[in-house]
Amino acid sequence: VQPGAQAFDTRAIQQLDSAHYLHPFTDFKDLNSKGARVIVRGQGIYLWDSEGEKILDGMSGLWCVNVGYGRTSISEAVYRQMETLPFYNSFFNTTNVPATRLAAKLVEISPPQFNHVFYTGSGSEGNDTNLRMVRRYWDLMGFKERHTIISRHNAYHGSTVAGASLGGMDGMHAQGGLPIPGIVHIGQPNYFESGRGMTEAEFGIEAAGWLEAKILELGPEKVAAFIGEPVQGAGGVIIPPATYWPEIQRICDKYGILLIADEVICGFGRLGAWFGSELLGIKPDLITFAKGVSSGYIPLGGVLVGDRIADVLIGQGGDFNHGFTYSGHPVACAAALENIRIIEDEQLVKQVANVTGPYLRRKFASLRDHPLVGYADSYGFVAGLNLVRKKAEVVHDCELFTPELAVGMICRGHMFNNGMIMRAVGDRMIIAPPLVMTKAEIDEMVNKIRYCLDKTL
Ligand code: PLP
Repeated sequence: VQPGAQAFDTRAIQQLDSAHYLHPFTDFKDLNSKGARVIVRGQGIYLWDSEGEKILDGMSGLWCVNVGYGRTSISEAVYRQMETLPFYNSFFNTTNVPATRLAAKLVEISPPQFNHVFYTGSGSEGNDTNLRMVRRYWDLMGFKERHTIISRHNAYHGSTVAGASLGGMDGMHAQGGLPIPGIVHIGQPNYFESGRGMTEAEFGIEAAGWLEAKILELGPEKVAAFIGEPVQGAGGVIIPPATYWPEIQRICDKYGILLIADEVICGFGRLGAWFGSELLGIKPDLITFAKGVSSGYIPLGGVLVGDRIADVLIGQGGDFNHGFTYSGHPVACAAALENIRIIEDEQLVKQVANVTGPYLRRKFASLRDHPLVGYADSYGFVAGLNLVRKKAEVVHDCELFTPELAVGMICRGHMFNNGMIMRAVGDRMIIAPPLVMTKAEIDEMVNKIRYCLDKTL
């Protein structure tokens, strides 16, 4: 399919789609009345729809296509692996070559306390694994009461029952009787929303203090772990003050509580390091990964298991009764190995840390002069801005739009209709572009954003 060529009968696909396909996180009736946009091709940072419209993908698909679209070396690696061994499980004392090599590679690029990997098919399954692993750890340690996991409001940890319970999304908890018992939530470190009257540094300490208060309320002997995304993604790219995570780490250490970093978004170069923990002052016991590990070319996720837990799980013996058919899927692992080779060869982590990340930061910050933008910040290759009715010198004095106006969705609509994908979380507009984005492409993206902000005015 050539860029711009119409290769599909769009209407026919839309009709089949409406008739049979229930999309994730979607108002089915509403979508059926409009018809889904049919995406047919990707190259670099761009997508094309079935009508030949070119779209700049500011979201890397769903925070995952870190190396960009159209990487033939990944499709070739996948093809070769499928020809050799499309599938075999690792349940019954067998293994496969890509899964083993990838585990060693992940250990090589992760922080020093990690020497083991447990594979899953997705980030959600990774967090289910975390829940069972931390509880198993405390059982083996002889602390059978230590089962509660503390998370945060507006966190996103997946869509399985445990993942959605660990997450802090009200809309998800409202359906299906979640969260399950043994999971509690504290506030998120959202300076724009909750930091009135404080410097960012003061607010970071204050927000971390909510964890200590919750531990004391529950009793430290009941608390198994704290889970958090280094930078909250789906909750609106909430970049915590620099003081936040070191204080969280100190509190976890003080009470002996395990720390789980959910790096499903923040891993694989997104923040300008292999893992965001390294930059934010976190020394986790478990790291959830997915998305960028394979740049989404084939689904893959898992958990990096730190020595503190691995030593007990391995040392005490006995089955860990958990796993998935597709744990260590050879084709997914082959895709991930090639994806990581690309990230290394093209030095994308350094590029984001030292060149394009700082450039995006400068360019994105330039949007602060727009009359609709009350607050804008970025970290590596994630960024967000708050739309406000009236700006103010002190960000907390900005006048907000009422939620019923759904200004974020209106702005997102202008983006969508003008060849740009930017996501709206309430009135916060967010991006997470592919790590291969060049300076010229950043200019193009920021110009598009400004143009669409003007249209939203
Ligand atoms: N954790 C985080 C931080 C995520 O952003 C996501 C997905 O967006 C998940 C977990 C769930 O991953 P998956 O959709 O692969 O199950």
